[in-house]
Amino acid sequence: MTQLSDKLTNFIQQMPKAEIHIHLEGAIQPKTVLELAKRHDKLNTLPSDTEEGLRRWFTFTDFPHFVEIYLTIQDLIRTADDFALIVYENGADMAAQNIRYRELTVTPYTHTSYQDKGLTFAELFEGLENGRLRAKEEYGVEMRWVFDIARNLTDNPDGSYDPTPAEKTLEYALEGKAKGSVVGLGLGGYEVGYPPERFAHAFEKAKAAGLLSVPHAGETVGPESIWGSLTALQADRIGHGVRAVEDPSLLATLKVKQIPWRLTPPATPA
Ligand SMILES: [Zn+2]
Repeated sequence: MTQLSDKLTNFIQQMPKAEIHIHLEGAIQPKTVLELAKRHDKLNTLPSDTEEGLRRWFTFTDFPHFVEIYLTIQDLIRTADDFALIVYENGADMAAQNIRYRELTVTPYTHTSYQDKGLTFAELFEGLENGRLRAKEEYGVEMRWVFDIARNLTDNPDGSYDPTPAEKTLEYALEGKAKGSVVGLGLGGYEVGYPPERFAHAFEKAKAAGLLSVPHAGETVGPESIWGSLTALQADRIGHGVRAVEDPSLLATLKVKQIPWRLTPPATPA
């Protein structure tokens, strides 16, 4: 790995920054993971009960391992207070890095419906907002939410498409937008077998309501996943998107449309 000079590291550290792609549940510190596991008597669901062991487990090996970690951690975040804690700690991390504005991706449907927690969307959102406002008050940092659809959790038992997760996520995002702090609808999870086109019904309504369309694409599937996101989902930004490099005409299109850099000013919450 290239080592940055101290001067450059300091310059970057002190520069005020906006970070527009981070996953709330994926950015939890090992210390907090252990705290939540103890709080809910779920230490037995973790491969280690030390911060060091969790750090090793967090090391990226492949996408299925990443999803396994993601779902294990999702299961530890169970109450409004849990959400408030992880959001507040995320705000502390922003302050430490001088990040003034962050758009955080959250996958609400997995918390309210996929894992059996008895958590309502109202409770989840209250937790997010309590954490956000506490971080803003204490550190002066601004956070906004992107709610994303977990594409691999949209199968009926017979393998046909179940639109409910996308529709519920859209409903949550519209409710959050009305309150001023949700800025976009996202799409995450396994790309293979879950092309963007099937989610067009939700993104069309999201765009019409003024939300950003910010799907993940072009990571485990090639350029066609990014093309599909641009055409079927009217994507404003592409999450990850590293395989765009395989198609020069796609790169040219992304450049012309300024897709990687498109920002909207933060909405003012009610
Ligand atoms: Zn992402």
